[in-house]
Amino acid sequence: MIRVVVSGASGRMGREVLKTVLQAGDMVLVGAVDVRGEGQDVGSLLGVPETGITLQTALERVLVETSPDVMVDFTTPDAVAENIKVALHHGVRPVVGTTGMSTGELQEIRTLAEQLKLGCVIAPNFAIGAVLMMRFAAEAARYLPHVEIIELHHDQKLDAPSGTALKTAELVAAVRGDIRQGLPAEMEKIPGVRGGAFDGGVRIHSVRLPGLVAHQEVIFGGLGQTLSIRHDSISRESFMPGVLLAIRRVMHLEGVVYGLENLLFE
Ligand code: NAD
Repeated sequence: MIRVVVSGASGRMGREVLKTVLQAGDMVLVGAVDVRGEGQDVGSLLGVPETGITLQTALERVLVETSPDVMVDFTTPDAVAENIKVALHHGVRPVVGTTGMSTGELQEIRTLAEQLKLGCVIAPNFAIGAVLMMRFAAEAARYLPHVEIIELHHDQKLDAPSGTALKTAELVAAVRGDIRQGLPAEMEKIPGVRGGAFDGGVRIHSVRLPGLVAHQEVIFGGLGQTLSIRHDSISRESFMPGVLLAIRRVMHLEGVVYGLENLLFE
């Protein structure tokens, strides 16, 4: 049995992970951490019978008391790096979905996981469809190099653009090189209206609306034609098969694996 602690347990993703881990035959939920809801039983949080696991605020104490194998983290951009470091220092393997970490933080974590010879999976998107969308976009960019990305998320999301949009832009830029989309002399009558340009000139547009979950459309333009590659996560269940896969695989890894594609398409 893989012993799992969930960090960010009261959140939208955290609650979905709690449900999923409680139902997995090869996993046992041993702890739930969040800065909100201290003392509440996980069962009452999920609307199921009591589990005996209560929400706690201090990650380090939970790790010491429960000796988990894996910590799953879906928290916030400013909390995640510290949580990962605390887990690694306690010999616990992180599976991380939280987006918005800086490249510096990511590098520090890569070094630490290697030094400690511990597995760590960090994925900006755990939905298989989204991973395929990114892969197909990178393939299409070889033939249709003019691209813009529209990512659409619920209006409670803290970071913009999404980690998925950044990763897609990185993949596209690596294949097609530097292209500045639009006229050099174009003027924005409303600042930001043309989106933000990633290195390599890939423009990203971020939409935030209630009712959305996580969506992305990559639009390619060519002579007399366009191609749209779109993925929609219509519920947070879409991320759970990827999270389960990462929990199982992280037990056998050493160092950081960044991106679910590296577990799916080896
Ligand atoms: P949310 O706001 O609903 O949940 C975040 C939770 O983290 C909250 O309950 C908050 O109280 C808690 N929290 C904040 N600081 C904490 C800390 N220091 N320790 C423990 N808990 C803390 O957000 P969400 O929609 O669940 O998203 C969480 C993260 O997951 C975001 O970064 C989002 O972009 C990302 N996300 C990733 C994927 C993926 O597939 N990788 C999918 C969806 C969302």
